[in-house]
Amino acid sequence: MPESAMNWPPIRKPPGTLRVAPNLGDYATAVASFSWDDARRELLGDPPGNINIAYLAVDRHVAAGRGDRIAIRWLGRKGERRNLTYQDLKLASDSFANVLRDLEVGPGDTVFALSERVPELYIAAIGTLKNRSVFCPLFPAFGPEPIHQRMSIGCGKLLVTTPMLYKRKVAQIRASLPDLQHVILIGEIGDLIEEAHGFDSVISIASDQFTIPETAPEDLALLHFTSGTTGKPKGAMHVHDAVVAHYITGKTALDFHESDIFWCTADPGWVTGTSYGIISPLTHGLTMVVDQADFDAARWYRILQDERVTVWYTAPTAIRMLMKAGPGLPRGFDLSALRFAGSVGEPLNPEGVAWGAEVLGLPIHDNWWQTETGGIMIANYAAMDIRPGSMGKPLPGIEAAVVRHEDDAVTVIEAPGEEGELALRAGWPSMFRGYLGEEERYRKCFSGEWYLTGDLARVDEDGYFWFVGRADDVIKSAGHLIGPFEVESAIMEHPAVAEVGVIGKPDPVAGEIVKAFVALKPGFEPGEDLRLDILGFARKRLGTAVAPKEIVFTEDLPRTRSGKIMRRLLKARELGLPEGDLSTLEGPA
Ligand code: ATP
Ligand code: MG
Repeated sequence: MPESAMNWPPIRKPPGTLRVAPNLGDYATAVASFSWDDARRELLGDPPGNINIAYLAVDRHVAAGRGDRIAIRWLGRKGERRNLTYQDLKLASDSFANVLRDLEVGPGDTVFALSERVPELYIAAIGTLKNRSVFCPLFPAFGPEPIHQRMSIGCGKLLVTTPMLYKRKVAQIRASLPDLQHVILIGEIGDLIEEAHGFDSVISIASDQFTIPETAPEDLALLHFTSGTTGKPKGAMHVHDAVVAHYITGKTALDFHESDIFWCTADPGWVTGTSYGIISPLTHGLTMVVDQADFDAARWYRILQDERVTVWYTAPTAIRMLMKAGPGLPRGFDLSALRFAGSVGEPLNPEGVAWGAEVLGLPIHDNWWQTETGGIMIANYAAMDIRPGSMGKPLPGIEAAVVRHEDDAVTVIEAPGEEGELALRAGWPSMFRGYLGEEERYRKCFSGEWYLTGDLARVDEDGYFWFVGRADDVIKSAGHLIGPFEVESAIMEHPAVAEVGVIGKPDPVAGEIVKAFVALKPGFEPGEDLRLDILGFARKRLGTAVAPKEIVFTEDLPRTRSGKIMRRLLKARELGLPEGDLSTLEGPA
């Protein structure tokens, strides 16, 4: 167990104290009895219906008489609201699928989306999947270069975007995207009529009845680019069968119940915003909140309050920003509807877990997965006692292990507490089926039956998994292997620290020394006294071998669009090395 986590007592959940009976109660029994075939049967019925993601997410509910339920509660940036029922979503996505068919965009062709979170984005996603085309959502804040890079790799045939984004970012690269045949623009298209179709006009003339063709489990459905935290983003390909994992992990890891109001704060441009911001909640027939606006602490507390959100899924970066906004703000809001809060994307410091317990009245439940895994793999599920700083346990159906990997052999490390690479036994439905255009890189992720994640972890004697760091970020200092997460978590506990990123800086004696980049909370000024105070604080918690030797203050840390600290960039800047692919770096596009 990381030393810093030892300071944090487990958060217990005595049976019967949860507000809703948890879907995953007795872990050992659920793991022993789980089979993917059963999960598939539960979702598809017996005999099985169409495996098409859009059918299972939307049309299935309408066919079962649940068409009047609200699927999307959309909140516009300026206070506008729009509700879309499952029936609305069915008809509009049928129309969109017919538009694709009329434009000769067929099965296997890639449809890109570059849009803010507006209802049309969700309609396009569902319609694309109905047509068995491949959906690839991009962050609307991307600049022309990252858009071009991804659309070239993905051979995008059609793009759904807005007139403003088109003019600013796409018009200039369109000539060098030979595969791009059609652009559909959401909103007033004005003088772009020669170059593009209007979303409303094509939808209004298309039929709103579309028969979803029989879809094979292995038909491609989604293309998601990784966050680019460690290098050039990879295009992970996912198939329709992934929906079985989206569905079952929504049930087990996020404890979805049909009556939930669910809010996933991620943009669909990041895999979380599609797997859990579109597909998983809809397969459960929930109502999901979609907020067009970007992060704003007061707005977010107001949404949790006013929409009576019951299940909330967010990321450590957002939690850190809420923490930074201070404890006074949430006191003005009634957050009592919330019964489960989850987090993904980066390690969640124990500090963040505890913040949830204090401010929301619920600890934050960390879970772990990747673009490549398509869905949650390791989680703190609702009924589980939380050990702050741990990412939880593998979900039923997922076999995870800490392994040593040499040449072509993988050895599972049985001893509790020993570090190694986190590996998953290949074969779950939402496992990626390739990196588009990078066959060799894909093959290198596997050894025998194991998928190697590139993350380092350890397992404690009770089967809790602890994230150590990405293999690329681990620091080797004077014979110690140091995970940046452990160091960052300890520094985060200092009252002045809002955020911290830690790297290994080459050193002639120690190999590497630990260096920390610290951003302060409002009200604290950088200075020598504070620097020494944080150094002393870290030493006390971590010991001199692991504590940073150097600390510098910074206004802000470089982050990906999905909110992850880019340690590789801190390191490249420190060493004056090339900065590498910056296409996902947050900042002005
Ligand atoms: P790239 O692969 O392009 O470098 P990325 O790995 O950040 O980018 P994602 O697929 O979005 O792209 O992120 C998955 C990674 O995020 C994981 O491999 C892990 O390093 C980190 N991660 C996600 N959830 C957690 C978590 N709960 N705890 C610790 N790390 C996490
Ligand atoms: Mg990755």
